[in-house]
Amino acid sequence: VGDSADFDREVESICPFCGVGCQISLKVKDDKVKYVEGINGPANEGRLCVKGRFGFDYIHHDHRLTKPLIRRDDAPAKGLNVDPANWQEFFREATWDEALDFAAKGLKNIGGTGVAGFGSAKCTNEEAYLFQKMIRQGFGHNNVDHCTRLCHASSVAALMENVGSGAVTATFNEIENADVAIAIGCNPIENHPVAATYFKQFTKRGGKLIVMDPRGQALKRFSSHMLQFRPGTDVSMLNAIMHVIVEEELYDKQYIEAYTENWEAEKEHLKDFTPEKMAEVCGIDAETLRDVARTFAGANAAMIFWGMGVSQHIHGTDNSRCLISLALMTGQVGRAGAGLHPLRGQNNVQGASDAGLVPMFLPDYQSVMNDGVRSAFTDVWKSEDFSNQKGLTVTEIMDAVHDGDIKGMYVLGENPAMSDPDVEHARDALAKLEHLVVQDIFITETANYADVILPASAFAEKSGTVTNTNRQVQMGRAAVSPPGEAREDWWIEVELAKRLGLGWEYTSPADVFAEMKLNMRSLDNITWDRLEDENAVTYPSLSPTDPGQAIVFADGFPRPDGRARFTPASIIAPDDVPDAEYPMILTTGRQLEHWHTGSMTRRSTVLDGLEPEANCSLHPSTLRKLGVVAGEAVRLTTKRGSIEIMAREDRAVSPDMVFLPFAYVEAAANILTNPAVDPYGKIPEFKFSAVKVEAVKTS
Ligand code: SF4
Repeated sequence: VGDSADFDREVESICPFCGVGCQISLKVKDDKVKYVEGINGPANEGRLCVKGRFGFDYIHHDHRLTKPLIRRDDAPAKGLNVDPANWQEFFREATWDEALDFAAKGLKNIGGTGVAGFGSAKCTNEEAYLFQKMIRQGFGHNNVDHCTRLCHASSVAALMENVGSGAVTATFNEIENADVAIAIGCNPIENHPVAATYFKQFTKRGGKLIVMDPRGQALKRFSSHMLQFRPGTDVSMLNAIMHVIVEEELYDKQYIEAYTENWEAEKEHLKDFTPEKMAEVCGIDAETLRDVARTFAGANAAMIFWGMGVSQHIHGTDNSRCLISLALMTGQVGRAGAGLHPLRGQNNVQGASDAGLVPMFLPDYQSVMNDGVRSAFTDVWKSEDFSNQKGLTVTEIMDAVHDGDIKGMYVLGENPAMSDPDVEHARDALAKLEHLVVQDIFITETANYADVILPASAFAEKSGTVTNTNRQVQMGRAAVSPPGEAREDWWIEVELAKRLGLGWEYTSPADVFAEMKLNMRSLDNITWDRLEDENAVTYPSLSPTDPGQAIVFADGFPRPDGRARFTPASIIAPDDVPDAEYPMILTTGRQLEHWHTGSMTRRSTVLDGLEPEANCSLHPSTLRKLGVVAGEAVRLTTKRGSIEIMAREDRAVSPDMVFLPFAYVEAAANILTNPAVDPYGKIPEFKFSAVKVEAVKTS
């Protein structure tokens, strides 16, 4: 906390840590961020969590990359851990011209489908747009993806299929107009902390909050119902709830007739899912399932929030289909206090997906398979047509590298050497690449494999727009200079594209935004100048003065005949189920203090001080059985690998489960996780692996 004497400049921007998108004021002195305060953004109204308030000193950390680096000819093997204080053993400094020439030449020499790209949900919309354009225009295909594949791709697949749009139908703040809300497979107090404050307020004024989560959580204290169901049984539980709504005729007949299709098939499908039968599958008693059904169906206005507990399963799309059906049959979409809201994870995963950083869609979810769509883009880009085939996803790209089909990669701001499932497979793939260009702010685990590293900028060092979970397009502003010779990401992309012969002439992110608007109807009535003035506009915005629509689909859906669809979902078991050798269930996730692969938050003094050590959570009875006390080490082993890690006692975890955060490189959770994917969203099953837990004897 400081006062005006502590800074000489204030710059308004957006917190980079999560999809809530809190607006902040950066207090700057001597070109350094001294402290941060929340300001009155539409999502946060001045509120911040511990990351947004105290997590910023990583920007000025002495591990920051300050010069382009090229791997030395005599460097040790790729993949060995590069000590940030002793990188000279692996890399040599280069000028920007030399590094960019080297990066472009390597990618160009491989060319075509031999090259793939991972962009980043931490970068701006403009940077995401440029990245996908570079792969499509420069290499002629769609092998470009980012971390949406690891978080909400299955939710987006179900939303696109059934309501015709991949974004939320209502902002999370709409909960203030609801009287019932479901929060399933999400842990907002840890992962969307400022959104959670709105959830708590909702319960304090009498709203009923139904929390559904295999792991207990702090929101339980505020809930009217806490359903701690068996991991991986979402479909059985949700279908049972919908069965009751059908059986007791609690559904909204008028809404179903006016705005939906395939209702009869859904109704028929639900017949078998009686609460009595499903109670045995999901572990929630039939009477509770009936009570939840009546509570939700009896609401005047109800919202459904979900997180990666829903999406990160091989049946993640089916889980989301159930949630969509539940909202549709009760008419809980398109009104104040009603709606579907997958809580997006990374700060700009919504915007990066909107900007086309995915292998199947161009910007605004326009199919790459549509000839008219492609030609609209190539007209603007003044370039040749590119492939009409969907590209490869994150895990498919890594498989193609293994198989030798992809030999070159450009990775901007992602860290697949930590974030991919079965990460040793991903690391082996990275080591096989002939040419890896990494653009980042630190030497990440992925940069350990790089041939060339391009030093990039932190959010506070660049300007650009980002889009939060609420569909709010917001303006981020540069507050301080990048360190040394580090440059803004959009500038690096443009310089690389020039060397690939793409003739890009952008001189600012505003130029890029202007081009994006040409083929993105979602940005109608949203201009760079407007965002400079207003900081945020929600899409869709219906006029140059409309702040945007918090609620969409009041009068039908962007689907044939304006009708949303019911898609019945059947029970599919998790891929890697416990057996005698691996008897427990491993689930992975985030902690409040740490962010994704930890490259930023573990370099933040306050956040790392609060959670300095890799840990996993086990029920006290499990610890007793193992003969382990909290603070001692356990060994976790799955079919993929093994790690040793400190055990923490946690009654919220059921006795047959281990919870493992994935931010810690010294005990990387993804050494253990299962790469099996959902067939629609292609998202891995991070939330369920069979695991063996053993005590580690130190003497
Ligand atoms: Fe930042 Fe998310 Fe916390 Fe808001 S809730 S301050 S966006 S981490």
